[in-house]
Amino acid sequence: MIEMKNVSKWYGSFQVLNDCSTSISKGEVVVVCGPSGSGKSTLIKTINALEPIQKGEIWVNGTAIHDPKTDLPKLRSTVGMVFQHFELFPHLSVTENLTIAQIKVLGRSADDAKARGLKMLDRVGLMAHKDKFPGQLSGGQQQRVAIARALSMDPSVMLFDEPTSALDPEMVGEVLDVMIGLAHEGMTMMCVTHEMGFAKKVASRVIFMDVGGKILEDCSKEDFFGNPDARQPRTKDFLGKIL
Ligand code: ADP
Ligand code: MG
Repeated sequence: MIEMKNVSKWYGSFQVLNDCSTSISKGEVVVVCGPSGSGKSTLIKTINALEPIQKGEIWVNGTAIHDPKTDLPKLRSTVGMVFQHFELFPHLSVTENLTIAQIKVLGRSADDAKARGLKMLDRVGLMAHKDKFPGQLSGGQQQRVAIARALSMDPSVMLFDEPTSALDPEMVGEVLDVMIGLAHEGMTMMCVTHEMGFAKKVASRVIFMDVGGKILEDCSKEDFFGNPDARQPRTKDFLGKIL
C-alpha cells in the first residue's frame, strides 16, 4: 500500500532523510520512533506530499507521489493525517469541522457529509458534542474529533504524528483506545509515537530512526522488544531510556 524507495530529503544543505526505504502492506500498523530531530515527522509528511523529496520514490496505492503530474489533493484525500496539535478549525463547530473537507475535496452533498461525519463522531464517542466549538472541548476530545474528521474522508491509510504527546496524561488513553480500535479493524496505519504500550499491543512492525534521518531498524515488534541483543547499540540505548 505504501512503498518508499531510497528516499532522501534536504532542507537547504541539511540532510533530514538519508536513503530511507520501507513498505507497508494493507492492514499493517507500523510504529515509528526515535530521538527528537531524527526526521520522523518529515518522513511521515512525505507520504502525503506535505513535504517534497529530492531523491527516491514514494508510492501510495500505486500512485507515484514523487511524480509532479500526480493530483496531490486527490491523493491526500485517501491518506488521513492526524497531527500532534489537533489543527481543528477553531471558528467552525465540530460538525462543520467534520464536513468541510468532504464537501470541498470529495464533492459530497452537505447531507451526505453530515451523515458520514456524525457516524465517525459517534464511533469516537463524541456525538453529544457535535454542536460545540473546538475550544469547548478537552485536548483528548479535540484529538478524537481530528481522528473522526480524517476517517470521514474514507482514507485507505491513516498517518499519525505523535497524536498523544501534547495531551495531559489522563487523556492519552482515550485517544489510544480509538487508535487501537482502528488497528483491530484492519486499518493500515503509520504512527509516530513513543507510546510503547500501544506499539506492543498493535504494531506489526517498528521502525527506529536515528539522528541524521536514517532508518536504523525496521523489524517485527517481537524482534524490536524481545531481542535487544540483536538491535543496534543506538536502539538499545533509546529503549533503555523510554521503557
Ligand atoms: P522529528 O519529528 O523526529 O523530531 P523532524 O522531522 O521534525 O524530526 O525534523 C528533523 C530535522 O529537520 C530537525 O533537525 C529539524 O530541526 C529539521 N527541520 C524540520 N523542519 C524543517 C524546516 N521546515 N526547515 C529546516 N529544517 C527543518
Ligand atoms: Mg516530530
